[in-house]
Amino acid sequence: MVFYASSTKEAVAADPAALRIRGVVFDMDGTLTIPITAHLEQMRREINVPDGVRVLDYVDTCLDAEKREWAHRRIVEIEDEAMVDMELSPGLVELLQFLHDNEIRTAIITRNNRRALDHFVDKVVARQAAEHQALFSFDPLIDRSFVPTKPAPDSLLSISRAWGIEPAQLMMVGDHGDDLLCGVRAGSISALLRYNSSGCFESKAHVVVDRIDELASRLASGFEADMAITGDDDVGV
Ligand SMILES: [Mg+2]
Repeated sequence: MVFYASSTKEAVAADPAALRIRGVVFDMDGTLTIPITAHLEQMRREINVPDGVRVLDYVDTCLDAEKREWAHRRIVEIEDEAMVDMELSPGLVELLQFLHDNEIRTAIITRNNRRALDHFVDKVVARQAAEHQALFSFDPLIDRSFVPTKPAPDSLLSISRAWGIEPAQLMMVGDHGDDLLCGVRAGSISALLRYNSSGCFESKAHVVVDRIDELASRLASGFEADMAITGDDDVGV
């Protein structure tokens, strides 16, 4: 077990050299926003993705050119339908306030398309109270055009380099095993936002919460992390 010290500004001032989380990177769908499970299931069903295979892997490696083009078009159409229902995850504003107050950086890595990411940043955030909008200062914003996508660690490692913060001091937060694997493979802390359907991914999480603002109290108190967790792809998709 490795102890992560408190990430509050006061704790940083008292012990600047301690190992602690200095940046938090979020998945979008089901993490910053409420889950879009029904849309994802529809996508798998229509494209006929076999169990245990990732949608984009299947489309890009198993379909012929014509079918692949159709599948990519359907994915974007279904993502567009899901976009209309996008709502913030309960407790998100409270967590972002804590991160802002303690000068902890934030970013997004999503496997969704750019328009959906822009819709979140421009439209969903714009619906929030004016005094909260500055809290949504995620940077960078990474969509699926960055390859390889999660669970590969490359996108998270690029953020580590851009911020000048070592991977061990980053937390990757998500509701899916691939978010956690991305974090673990980068050498970062993985945090699972758990739903009934995502408990199966717990074995890849250093931190598990049932509501996203619980992360604020974990980061404030500090926590122990089990560094024996591996990035092996053995929890399914
Ligand atoms: Mg997700």
